[in-house]
Amino acid sequence: ERIVAGSVSHEEREVEAALRPRHLADFVGQHRVRNQLSLVLEAAKLRGATADHILLSGPPGLGKTTLSMIVAEEMGAPLRISSGPAIQHSGDLAAILSSLTEGEVLFLDEIHRMSRPAEEMLYMAMEDFRVDIVVGKGAGATSIPLELPPFTIVGATTRAGLLPGPLRDRFGFTGHLDFYSTDELEMVLRRSAAMLDMRLSNEAFSEIATRSRGTPRIANRLLRRVRDWALVSGLHDVDARAAAAALEMYEVDSRGLDRLDRSVLDALCSKFHGGPVGLSTLAIAVGEEVETVETVAEPYLVREGLLGRTPRGRIAMPAAWEHLGLTPPDDSAT
Ligand code: ADP
Repeated sequence: ERIVAGSVSHEEREVEAALRPRHLADFVGQHRVRNQLSLVLEAAKLRGATADHILLSGPPGLGKTTLSMIVAEEMGAPLRISSGPAIQHSGDLAAILSSLTEGEVLFLDEIHRMSRPAEEMLYMAMEDFRVDIVVGKGAGATSIPLELPPFTIVGATTRAGLLPGPLRDRFGFTGHLDFYSTDELEMVLRRSAAMLDMRLSNEAFSEIATRSRGTPRIANRLLRRVRDWALVSGLHDVDARAAAAALEMYEVDSRGLDRLDRSVLDALCSKFHGGPVGLSTLAIAVGEEVETVETVAEPYLVREGLLGRTPRGRIAMPAAWEHLGLTPPDDSAT
């Protein structure tokens, strides 16, 4: 498992839970979404109504689950958690929906991965607070309408564009979460360090923040690795050098690249003279699946301006050569 991976293991879920902010006021950054959401919730509370359905989009680890928990907390409502992949049959969804209590918040992670029939059932439930339960099979099947108490769906997706229009339209509020700035990540880290009873210098916080790929989940994960390292080294106060040394040990470099990212760039520069080279050729060169290179390494490399995608293939950007300490070939000479 990569230390910079977006996904989480079961074990990590528990550690993460302890570090989650519980109120909007403690949620770092994302000012626009936070202010808009705060308004939606306040208005619902004043009307004495259930909050509108909320759609949150953005890459993994930026706080979608956390925000859904905050919505429930702020509304004083219970929270139910499920996900698109867990709801494959409309019956699965019917079971969840029919057991919701009034005002309950249902968080649906990866909502774009729900099956089509479940999706259609969800449209109706979101709009009319009603589901049709189908009883029997074939010609004898009948559907029995079931009224539901009002509830709030908080849907999360990595990209809002992945959702079919009719589903997207049923959300009263859509918020897009963006990668965090280094300053914001430092705030996340300071909060977590206080909770973990760790002492770090200002420079150490910024050292970890710059390696965290704009992602609070990764920031917290790196912080815990630094904590392990400090513990084993018998260090009470972590300075920038110690933080850097700890993270070098886990092969996270100064720009947050890990071994896979670097080997992709290195192959691109050293073996293919900076490209353009096809994705599958590049994947073979680094001994990885095409999908791994495409979904795991590439997005961050592109975002960091290290790798470019052209119709003829992947190319190394000038910053890639610089980061690897290599000299680009002199095109004018050829
Ligand atoms: P997502 O659901 O988008 O994958 P999570 O909500 O699970 O992300 O967040 C991952 C971790 O990062 C959690 O432990 C959470 O505490 C932390 N985190 C995310 N966003 C923030 C934030 N704005 N402020 C503080 N901590 C955050």
